[in-house]
Amino acid sequence: NTIRCDVLVIGAGAAGLMCALTAGQRGRRVQVIDHANKVGKKILMSGGGRCNFTNTGTTAGNFLSANPHFCKSALARYTPADFIEMVERHRIAYHEKELGQLFCDISSKQIVRMLLDECDAAGVQIRTDCGVQDIERGSDGFRVQTAQGLFHCASVVIATGGLSIPSMGASGFGYEVARRFGHEVLPTRAGLVPLTLSGRHQERFAELSGVGLPIEARCNGQRFRNFMLLTHRGVSGPAILQISSFWQPGDDLRLDLLPDRDAEQWLREMKRERGAAELRTVLSEVIPRRLSLRLCEHWLADKPVRQLDEREIKATAALLADFPLVASGTEGYRTAEVTLGGVDTRKVSSSTMESQLVPGLHFIGEVLDVTGWLGGYNFQWAWASGAAAGNAV
Ligand code: FAD
Repeated sequence: NTIRCDVLVIGAGAAGLMCALTAGQRGRRVQVIDHANKVGKKILMSGGGRCNFTNTGTTAGNFLSANPHFCKSALARYTPADFIEMVERHRIAYHEKELGQLFCDISSKQIVRMLLDECDAAGVQIRTDCGVQDIERGSDGFRVQTAQGLFHCASVVIATGGLSIPSMGASGFGYEVARRFGHEVLPTRAGLVPLTLSGRHQERFAELSGVGLPIEARCNGQRFRNFMLLTHRGVSGPAILQISSFWQPGDDLRLDLLPDRDAEQWLREMKRERGAAELRTVLSEVIPRRLSLRLCEHWLADKPVRQLDEREIKATAALLADFPLVASGTEGYRTAEVTLGGVDTRKVSSSTMESQLVPGLHFIGEVLDVTGWLGGYNFQWAWASGAAAGNAV
């Protein structure tokens, strides 16, 4: 049972479906296979079920990679406007939430439906429950042995994603294929992931599970101003997910708990105008009360603000504006939105995503060492790299 085609795409996720429909539109005979029982599972669960499908402000600066220039060419040739054009053509209603992030009004299912309709119109064949047993490259192309027969094709596109959320079908398959064909795979770790706290901080904050506030998180020269949520294991929320991609165990992580004001100035103002009030009382007016009480219990002087001398004002302000949070680790791939690291892009063409070592072999999407910030950038990379390969195979 040999199935002949021009292009075999392995992985029916965001990047794989985009590559398939693009190649199909160019008249290529395209087959897509996925080992899961359903296509696009991560698209379905993304953005809280509404898929943050792109970010209108996408630039190369929104991505982490050992080779920061690699993503530029594909991002320039398939832009957020290109994807929005397809979304509008399929009459999918969407809105901007914040900071250029576009979400479906109704459901992420509409994005999967759109990609499947485009694949269908382009003559692409898709098979689920189809795992790969072996890939070989001969003089006349690739032979890929799968659960549903032997595929014989000129091009193979690896679109199997990263390691995040193993329960959704994530596997290290793409990395194994890359290594087998002589590619280097840069160390992988969980990104856009909640952080766990260590000993004292874990104990002191654990009871505050559910408390949330706007903060600025800072680490290794990066800063993100957004919401933080305390959980029973540690900290989460967009500001923490963003900074998690820049943090590694042992790194200094700081939180500005009063991102919208100058803490020193505010304390002097309180001393002048509300001198008799306890620090915990005035602090409870600008950050959640439970957090304020906990800070005053363990870290800050708990007394009327008029009793704070200049030295104490400076120390209190420093703690509030530059709180050193001791994280012990991340929640790992179980809850991470993305995988940092992956197939080293230095041996992959940035315009076609083709391997420079093995002609006809392409890598697209998250399996590559290109990882976006939170906010629709990861899907934009999947669409752009998928389109780049789809236009080349
Ligand atoms: P995937 O979409 O993961 O697709 C890979 C496919 O390959 C899967 O279908 C998988 O079953 C298949 N596969 C894996 N191994 C094999 C194998 N051995 N054989 C055959 N098939 C295989 N990004 C955003 O931009 N916006 C968001 O709102 C957003 N929300 C997210 C929410 C969650 C909970 C998660 C986990 C991620 C979110 N992301 C979001 C990130 C985004 O989903 C990924 O970056 C994106 O899906 C990567 O696309 P991909 O095609 O490379 O991989």
